[in-house]
Amino acid sequence: MPERLYADIAVPGVPKDTLTYAVPEGLHDRMQPGVRVMVPLGRRLVMGFVVSTHDRMPDFAVKAVQQALDVDPVITPEVMRVCEWVHRYYVCGLGEALKAALPQGMDVDSERQVSLRSDDEQDITRAVGRSRAKASIVEALRTGEVMSEEELRSHVGVKSISAQLRDLAMEGIVQIESVIERPAARPKTVLAVRLLPPWNRSDKISELMEIMEKRAPKQVNIIAQLWKQYREGETTVQMSALVRAARASSAQVRALEEKDIVEVLEEEVTREWQVRYAEKRKSITLTAAQRAALDAVNAAVDEGSHRGMLLYGVTGSGKTQVYIEAITHVLEKGKNALVLVPEISLTPQFVYRFRQAFGGDVAVMHSRMSVGERYDAWRLLMAGEYRVVVGVRSAVFAPVRDIGLIVVDEEQEGSYKQSDIQPRYNGRDVAVMRGWFEGAPVLLGSATPSLESWQNALSGKYALLRLDERIDNARLPEIRMVDMTEERKQRGTQGAFSHALIEAIRERIARKEASIVLHNRRGFAPHLECRDCGFVRECDNCSIALVFHKDRSYLRCHYCGAAEKAPVICPQCGGTDLDPVGTGTQRVEEDLQAALPEARILRMDSDTTRRKGSHDLMLTALREGEVDVLLGTQMVAKGLDFETVTLVGVVAAEQSLLLPDFRSSERTAQLLTQVAGRSGRGAQSGTVMLQAARPEHPVFDYVRKNEYLGFLRDEIASRRDLGYPPFSRLVLLTFSGEREEHVRDAANLYHTALKKAGSFFRMYPPQPALLSRINRRYRFHLLMRIEKNRDTDGRRLGAALAFASEYQLRHAKSRSVHIAIDVDPQYMM
Ligand code: ADP
Ligand code: ZN
Repeated sequence: MPERLYADIAVPGVPKDTLTYAVPEGLHDRMQPGVRVMVPLGRRLVMGFVVSTHDRMPDFAVKAVQQALDVDPVITPEVMRVCEWVHRYYVCGLGEALKAALPQGMDVDSERQVSLRSDDEQDITRAVGRSRAKASIVEALRTGEVMSEEELRSHVGVKSISAQLRDLAMEGIVQIESVIERPAARPKTVLAVRLLPPWNRSDKISELMEIMEKRAPKQVNIIAQLWKQYREGETTVQMSALVRAARASSAQVRALEEKDIVEVLEEEVTREWQVRYAEKRKSITLTAAQRAALDAVNAAVDEGSHRGMLLYGVTGSGKTQVYIEAITHVLEKGKNALVLVPEISLTPQFVYRFRQAFGGDVAVMHSRMSVGERYDAWRLLMAGEYRVVVGVRSAVFAPVRDIGLIVVDEEQEGSYKQSDIQPRYNGRDVAVMRGWFEGAPVLLGSATPSLESWQNALSGKYALLRLDERIDNARLPEIRMVDMTEERKQRGTQGAFSHALIEAIRERIARKEASIVLHNRRGFAPHLECRDCGFVRECDNCSIALVFHKDRSYLRCHYCGAAEKAPVICPQCGGTDLDPVGTGTQRVEEDLQAALPEARILRMDSDTTRRKGSHDLMLTALREGEVDVLLGTQMVAKGLDFETVTLVGVVAAEQSLLLPDFRSSERTAQLLTQVAGRSGRGAQSGTVMLQAARPEHPVFDYVRKNEYLGFLRDEIASRRDLGYPPFSRLVLLTFSGEREEHVRDAANLYHTALKKAGSFFRMYPPQPALLSRINRRYRFHLLMRIEKNRDTDGRRLGAALAFASEYQLRHAKSRSVHIAIDVDPQYMM
């Protein structure tokens, strides 16, 4: 071991890759890469990750690592490499990327705690001088309390007291210590009790029980219970179980503790975060197409090939079955598997099938788990307790060892992209890189592949596997367009539904079949409008109309959450004719109920599924035949596999085309193809009715003819012409702040600096974002288009952005503007 040791530490929130610290002798053997440490940064102690160690003395004064938080690394070597890639490609701090790889709540913070050190009044008077703030600090500490810097600051009532504290500390008046806070995610503990020696010997215990018999019968019961358990091999018994069994109270246990007969201690337990059960799996004979796809995947698993594979299979063609069989093969080889899905609560059937196949070997990681549940799942994974992980986006970093296969289902889904916080990664693309580092093939599955993945398959980068037929030769549904403009003209239809769709639903009800109605209200929610003056109530904080909720008659902003009672009188003209405009799912539901009073309608959207498990209940109701129409947002478009559904209706099929985004055609084609696939999965053939105000849009043609691949072919040609992804890489910079001119100024400075920084990209001039104000903050966009082959790994982009950042800081009038970098953005709002 070298005499001197230095560690390079990645610290979240610090733009540099790593910072170098000296390692004290006592910590030498703890400095493995992937261990969390506490290090001093400025005046604070912060958490960081060990990236590497060396004995090269830096040419600047280094501080020392204060503490190691882990005995074993919490980041595996492969995940470390994945994070390094995320850091370069998405231009975020390495510390940020590593933090994203751990479950929430595992980061540790520190707090500065202050206490009075001297009680020499003369010293104090001299040190305080004429400073009111210092006097106030000392006064607060005189009670002998230890206070955090933050508590003290609010007591004194000024913006910062750090200068005053530093002076007082130098004069020896106060003492300041950095204390590490307990992280939010930690093992759950319960109280447990054990017999202390020598009372765990049979001769001693009977002696003791005799003495106590009369005076404390309850305590004897407790001892008897402990002794019984002890003889059965349990050295500790949980407090709650013990008092129940002994019909005693915890006070009586504590009394025994006082007498040194028992010890009460804290014991770690695992939170019941999922039901582990196994059902018998039904045996399935694969079709020839499934067999061929499976053979290809198995061969790649056997080889340990790094190659990506795209499994293109129409809805209901048996993709999920292929995943399950392939993973069975992986497990037989003694390896493990990672499966990513867009959103677990939307695909309960998918999870059931995995549980059925792999029972207690499956860990499910979804977005509604509590901090504690996530942490326990992570700990058990770390300990190698599970062999298959099915999880959402963040599970791409799950500590699965020895991965044999990674599966990404519905790879085109936008929810794989983390858009709101750093690092803005796409879970699918990170999965492909993880496969590369793990030496495991990555299987991307979809009925509607993204244009990017399809292009990768065409170019030979991915292997292409296909399932062209539905299982049991179920036919793809017949798809019809309904021209709503014509309908309104001819029939004077007012509500959301055409005559044809209502009649079709009525027929299904008569035949005891179910219908699904999709109303994708994104960007088209109902707002309150004055019929007289056209006034629309907008959010005070955001540049967007408030959404009208009829059930309790209030208005709510879907960005910042601000809510208020809906006005009865127009604040602008005093008129009383305020009407909801635009069609939300609630409104659509009312229209449908009015047209079909006997229909049993179930509405499924983010409002009705907020409670844990409500989604499950709804699907059960559908399965049990208690529902005629399932109506909802895009939640109803995905993953549902019900044989009774023979009709799918779409209220306004062109809706998603209205967003100004180059992906809006692609998204529309995917959504409509997906929802159409919910129909006719059983013996009955299915029908789909797409209502549209502009039915002649070319996207509908492809969907109607079930020609998704034809759509992709033509769309790829147009993207190539325009130089859009996948033929370039987009980077969206979002500038935001409270003062509009500062935000504009920052965007312009970046624009100027980036023009000097390289020629491997093109730029569009900065402009206000589509959502030009959110939460009182103004927003500007700057869009870069990078020639992929001139910057394959993002290094040049990183350098250009670092240059622009420095340039901006040097020239900006204000430093209050926040800049978000989004590489491969999904939504440009
Ligand atoms: P996808 O994932 O492509 O939508 P699934 O794997 O869910 O398709 O298959 C659709 C339905 O067909 C499911 O109910 C599944 O259990 C069933 N299935 C899949 N493969 C077979 C097979 N080879 N034989 C019989 N049924 C199958
Ligand atoms: Zn708002």
